[in-house]
Amino acid sequence: MKITRAEFVISNTDVKKCPNPTIPEYAFIGRSNVGKSSLINMLCGRKSLAKTSSTPGKTQLINHFLINDNWFLVDLPGYGYAKVGKGLSKNWQKFIVDYILQRENLMNVFVLIDARHDPQKIDMEFMQWLGENDIPFSMIFTKLDKLNATQKSKFLSVYNKEMLEVWAELPPQFISSAVTADGKDEILNYIEEVNTYFGS
Ligand code: GDP
Repeated sequence: MKITRAEFVISNTDVKKCPNPTIPEYAFIGRSNVGKSSLINMLCGRKSLAKTSSTPGKTQLINHFLINDNWFLVDLPGYGYAKVGKGLSKNWQKFIVDYILQRENLMNVFVLIDARHDPQKIDMEFMQWLGENDIPFSMIFTKLDKLNATQKSKFLSVYNKEMLEVWAELPPQFISSAVTADGKDEILNYIEEVNTYFGS
């Protein structure tokens, strides 16, 4: 799939005020600074559709974008600096939890993981919570351009060893770079496959 149209629709903190759930939706979330905005801009082929961390006054909102007139891309707030390790409910603002649990057209949550770090407790806990709540999710490893081939395979084997201590099987995984656009086709094709499966 190629993205030919990407338009901002609405930002809010209330799942009830999100656009009508008539088309499939895909949410992107990860620790602050993971490269989420850069990834979204790379996928959409736009420089500043999603606001990057360096944007002054970047707010904590659920941001909806309409893509190709037939699916929503959602940029969720970054998590991770405050209150790490005190349990999920304290780490995530209630509106994000409500959005994930209640949004009926949410097809998949893309959990972004910075490939320069060892597995982080907060990401592991978040994915476990998604699993416990039967929310379909996939992982996107970001900033892969920072690793050489050896580092990349070491990173993936360390990460997945830890994943397999918790999970019987691995979720779908993508590797990406906003610098080289690696992962773009794979992520967009995956979304297209799910859209097709659901008849959109
Ligand atoms: P966000 O807070 O998750 O939206 O992260 P941003 O997209 O604002 O990126 C945070 C920082 O990481 C910025 O300095 C980006 O330039 C940098 N960054 C993001 N993606 C990549 C990437 O794929 N490769 C490299 N080398 N740097 C990246």
